[in-house]
Amino acid sequence: MEKCDVLVIGSGVAGLVFALTCAEKYQVRVVCKGTLMQTNTALAQGGIAAALEIPDSPESHFQDTIEAGNGLCDEEAVRFLVYQAGEAIRFLESQGLKFARLPNGHYDMALEGAHRKPRVVHVRDHTGKSLMETLAHAVRENRNIQVEEFCLVDHLILQKGQCVGASFFRGNTPGSEQLFAPVTMLAAGGAGQVYSPTSNTILSTGDGFSLADEAGAELKHMEFVQFHPTLLYSPGKAPFLISEALRGAGAKLCDKHGRPFIEKQHPMGSLAPRDIVSRSIIRQMKKDESPCVYLDIREKWSPKLAAHFSTITARCREEGIDPGKDLIPVYPAAHYMCGGILTDLFGQTNIPGLFASGENACTGVHGANRLASNSLLEGVVFSRSAGEHLLREGLPFHRAYHSGPFLSLNEDEFVDKVYCQIKEKLQKTMSTHVGIIRNEKGLREAESYIYSMLHSHLFSSDHHLSRNKIKVRHMLRTALLIVRAAMSRKTSCGAHFMEMKKNHHSEVLT
Ligand SMILES: Cc1cc2nc3c(=O)[nH]c(=O)nc-3n(C[C@H](O)[C@H](O)[C@H](O)COP(=O)(O)OP(=O)(O)OC[C@H]3O[C@@H](n4cnc5c(N)ncnc54)[C@H](O)[C@@H]3O)c2cc1C
Repeated sequence: MEKCDVLVIGSGVAGLVFALTCAEKYQVRVVCKGTLMQTNTALAQGGIAAALEIPDSPESHFQDTIEAGNGLCDEEAVRFLVYQAGEAIRFLESQGLKFARLPNGHYDMALEGAHRKPRVVHVRDHTGKSLMETLAHAVRENRNIQVEEFCLVDHLILQKGQCVGASFFRGNTPGSEQLFAPVTMLAAGGAGQVYSPTSNTILSTGDGFSLADEAGAELKHMEFVQFHPTLLYSPGKAPFLISEALRGAGAKLCDKHGRPFIEKQHPMGSLAPRDIVSRSIIRQMKKDESPCVYLDIREKWSPKLAAHFSTITARCREEGIDPGKDLIPVYPAAHYMCGGILTDLFGQTNIPGLFASGENACTGVHGANRLASNSLLEGVVFSRSAGEHLLREGLPFHRAYHSGPFLSLNEDEFVDKVYCQIKEKLQKTMSTHVGIIRNEKGLREAESYIYSMLHSHLFSSDHHLSRNKIKVRHMLRTALLIVRAAMSRKTSCGAHFMEMKKNHHSEVLT
């Protein structure tokens, strides 16, 4: 029976910070579906929100987070987040991450949407990549951490109500393996791939939510799917996000004639909360019968901005766009799961032995809509908190007594094509009916399709198992969780917007 002290599913910011913290005392195994670096974390551009210097304050960060969350945040969790931010930044610096600083030594704080003050620390526009390189290096150097890449987790293992590990398929081997541990951390990231378009990696198929739900864990706020307003519009090419920090630096949303359209609708204009900006863009696209709107940074463009936004500049140039002369075409895309597996301040779920962190967790800090750049912060703060809790309290009693059934894969090219078609249909269904603007009829249609697919002979058992079957089943289960949560919330709130219902933003956005 293969064992370790702590099993971590996922190698993004949440998984690696937890692994590094636990490794002070325990033997840790990190498993991930792709390479160690293949994560949403590595794609993050903007940075990490943290009120570190006067005149900013954690209290002001608290207020902005609560307002963006539309009254559904857990105040205790938000307070914990904003007051632990300084410690989180110091932890990352202790691992070797170097945030951008001004010539006077102060942090170079960026302004992002719905923040009243510039408070986003960053490594120019490649914060996530630098963060991942730093954490990956620290993990590889740590003797107490073993990393297993290309391992697809298909089930959590439960014994007498306790989570005792997980079963997974490694690389190209056809048989499943099992790994037992008194602590299993679900840090498997988001679910952007249940939609199209999405800003997320191809691996973000919602596996963590599906695994937790199957195991009986409690999930919350799954209806709040955040759409990022500004994915670069470049059909057929790899998705690329135009960071909100560009709007913080002066870019304005406009139509194809360069006319701004959101300034009259919300006092914060192009920097209004993401749900409001995304809806405004969708309406403008409909009005103009256009597949995108535009960002205009022409007047403010300078060599300094080009250097700061070097990743964005390079990608724009690849597309033949010169941000100093041209408008940048953008449209909204599925981006972030505000809800997830319900956890306390120490990452504990309702299942003994099962923890969750990062985008997988619902700590309560995002409510109905996440404030920009609070996600990486949440991953660091709550993974540190969970790890430190285990260092203090010791590992839970572990009573795994035997290994369960082993499964084997039966890859079949023809059947795999069917799974790919189902995936595409699911993405279309979710984007059409469970996207930025929803209605009851559409939600019912989506629920009916997903439910019948999940209960069809294709998915209802572990027979004829293939990697694609496992992935698409995780996607269907996660999609069902989103749709059902959306169906049970009858009124609009934050990222969940129901057509024809009166809500407190309708007067400015209709
Ligand atoms: C383009 C983009 C830009 C962003 N910019 C910012 C920003 O500037 N600031 C900010 O705060 N947030 C930003 N975000 C959000 C933030 O990056 C993510 O929410 C955060 O990084 C999630 O971290 P995570 O550790 O939870 O998951 P990820 O970093 O996504 O890691 C998930 C891990 O789980 C593994 N995994 C998944 N399923 C399985 C399985 N079945 N078996 C084994 N392993 C599995 C994956 O292989 C991966 O290792 C951005 C997101 C995107 C997509």
